[in-house]
Amino acid sequence: MTDESIPEQLAGGRLTIDLGALVANWRTLAARAPGATTAAVVKADGYGVGALEASKALAAAGCGTFFVGLPEEGIRLRAALPAATIYVLAGLIPGSVEALTRANLRPVLGSPTEIDAWIAARRAGASTGAAIHIDTGMNRLGLTAAEARDLVAAPDRIAALAPSLLMSHLACADTPAHPLNARQLAAFRIVRSALPQVPASLANSSGIYLGRDYHFDLTRPGVALYGAVFIDGQPPLQTVAKLEARVLRVRDVTAGDTVGYGATETAATQRRIAVLGAGYADGYHRAASSRDGRSGGRVFLRGHFAALIGRVSMDLIAVDVTAVRGVEEGDWAELFGPNLPVDEVAARAGTIGYELLTGLGHRYARRYAAK
Ligand SMILES: *Cc1c(COP(=O)(O)O)cnc(C)c1O
Repeated sequence: MTDESIPEQLAGGRLTIDLGALVANWRTLAARAPGATTAAVVKADGYGVGALEASKALAAAGCGTFFVGLPEEGIRLRAALPAATIYVLAGLIPGSVEALTRANLRPVLGSPTEIDAWIAARRAGASTGAAIHIDTGMNRLGLTAAEARDLVAAPDRIAALAPSLLMSHLACADTPAHPLNARQLAAFRIVRSALPQVPASLANSSGIYLGRDYHFDLTRPGVALYGAVFIDGQPPLQTVAKLEARVLRVRDVTAGDTVGYGATETAATQRRIAVLGAGYADGYHRAASSRDGRSGGRVFLRGHFAALIGRVSMDLIAVDVTAVRGVEEGDWAELFGPNLPVDEVAARAGTIGYELLTGLGHRYARRYAAK
């Protein structure tokens, strides 16, 4: 999805994506796992920043392997990157075989049924690679330990599959001390040792920082590329996305006035309010609303922070700019970006940077900057 066509003067918000920072983050992650190939996870429209733009910038920097969530994401990425290796994490959705093979997309196979269907597709002439996904403790997608044992005990099935990747996914890599990390590593190694000829992949962004044991042949970073927090309590890599909303209106309210839906917040004294042109329809979570007795989110404008006042509306938020000198209609307020980390904004809405980024919505004027 690309919103480049929305001109700034027709939008309430603008999103600036620093592709130079994205590439720098990919290089940082690659340097942490020097023995492995570093792929890029670009599912959910590249975590909201634009999968095609992000992937093209990463491919130009030397990234050759990409992971998308869904076949339709893969088909669009294939049109932009004819030579890349592209894996589809959702697996083999019934009815998708022909579309996958036509676009040379590699399914991540996660059940005996999917493996049977892919073997049948290969016998019918499909020649693209495929990953085998082993569940080692997430209990989401992937073969169970018993299913993995059955598969590795069937060399004819392995030969028919000719897997291009063996992978698993860590549940708690963002918490390095969590005991599940080592348990998952041990479980993955057992399957890996039965299929030593197949390239292996375990680490997401945070998994890369668990050390060499977790790197195997290929790493799959996502969120760290986009500049959000990926290890509990650790700062992110470079900021990639800056979201700003336009000041549509500046107004004064007097003591006793309420602001916004539900009249949930009452001005104790005379206040100056700036009304901004983005709301929950743009992915600014309503849970960041402010009300009497509980403060919500904040924005950054003219060098200062300004707190939300009242509820987040569909298209609008209001902030208290009483202490910020010179705010004018037409100013841009930073909702997150270099001055206001996306994870802080997310935390004030009770969520994580991942959810804020992937929920950005499509009404912004988008600008892509390369360093
Ligand atoms: C989303 C995803 C990743 C990337 O995870 P991050 O935490 O964003 O680095 C890697 N592998 C799989 C299977 C995923 O679903």
